[in-house]
Amino acid sequence: MTLHTSAIDRLCKRNVELSAFSTYGIGGSAHYLAMPETANDLAELLQECNKRGMPWYIFGMGSNILFPDEPKHDLVFISLKNLVDLRVSEGKWHVSSGTPMSLLSLMGLLGGTDLLDFTFLLPGCVGAGIYMNAKYNARQICDILDTVYYIDTTDPSLSVQSIPVSECLFAYKQSIFQQRPWIVVGADLNIPVSSEEQINTTSVLLTDWKTRGSHPSSLPSFFSFFLGEVHALAGKGIQTPQSMLDIIKYRTSKRHFDYPSCGSVFKNNYDYGVAVGSLVDQLNLKGTEYGGAIISPHHGNMILNQKHAKATDILYLMNLISESINNQFGFVPEPEIVLV
Ligand SMILES: Cc1cc2nc3c(=O)[nH]c(=O)nc-3n(C[C@H](O)[C@H](O)[C@H](O)COP(=O)(O)OP(=O)(O)OC[C@H]3O[C@@H](n4cnc5c(N)ncnc54)[C@H](O)[C@@H]3O)c2cc1C
Repeated sequence: MTLHTSAIDRLCKRNVELSAFSTYGIGGSAHYLAMPETANDLAELLQECNKRGMPWYIFGMGSNILFPDEPKHDLVFISLKNLVDLRVSEGKWHVSSGTPMSLLSLMGLLGGTDLLDFTFLLPGCVGAGIYMNAKYNARQICDILDTVYYIDTTDPSLSVQSIPVSECLFAYKQSIFQQRPWIVVGADLNIPVSSEEQINTTSVLLTDWKTRGSHPSSLPSFFSFFLGEVHALAGKGIQTPQSMLDIIKYRTSKRHFDYPSCGSVFKNNYDYGVAVGSLVDQLNLKGTEYGGAIISPHHGNMILNQKHAKATDILYLMNLISESINNQFGFVPEPEIVLV
């Protein structure tokens, strides 16, 4: 007789502190947390959750979400951070959703293209980057995609399907994946593959990330891992381009990796035409503290976890910013971070 272990028993850890899975370092104890390594395991897990009527929540590195202080009992948290795979098929790069976006910049560096530089030091995984259409300056994730692979969670077969980038409804911080119950599992990039050496070295970097870098969602270790890798490549004669040096300068000057945070809290309102960070500055709210949280003294659109903040502390400061902007400038800013 064969004993069948359920996917939930096989893949879920029990009673895990979510704070370790969020760059905010915030979140209470999850009763179920899974980190599937293959799309098949993910599909099996979803099937069982659906069968048992258990809700689930998909995430990546947790660099854009605020987990609750007290998660619901039956909610299954699923991080795709370990769904990491990188291969070349039919002359195209295929990356799976757990691949760190920042790794793509090193891949570009090895291949002699600057098209991926903007992903350098951009926290988070490719899957969420596609979901959020992550960007840096004028460059967005959608610029480098060819095809996206996803699981439609309403389709009972939960098989992997594909959609060309032209149909993904990408716009500023928007994509079709925010409108449909689809989970991104990977993508083909429209970036040229230059050499065997580029493929091999990128694979080694990914393996290093898997074994050394990927576990904590800690911003300092994320920063030191990728900074260390560009220094190592420079030691081998692959110079760090000015665009990447500028990113280091910008992100360190804004203290992006000094305190736990989730980056920008609100989306900019392009109709209004002034960045949220500048409006917060004009309102003299930078440096305002509540509980363990503080509005960054260096960047008005960031709220930092300064001293063991709770999710409720962050929410308090978000409401303060939102109401103050509405009173003074006449619009309610749309949150960029996702409240779970
Ligand atoms: C210091 C700092 C600086 C940042 N700077 C920038 C910046 O310059 N530009 C920028 O765009 N962002 C920035 N961010 C935000 C963050 O990097 C991006 O939003 C990134 O895409 C989040 O990736 P993640 O894996 O951490 O996603 P998570 O935070 O884990 O998830 C974010 C959302 O994506 C959904 N999701 C996750 N994976 C999938 C999937 N596979 N399929 C479908 N939905 C999914 C989740 O349900 C959630 O709603 C910054 C964050 C930090 C902490």
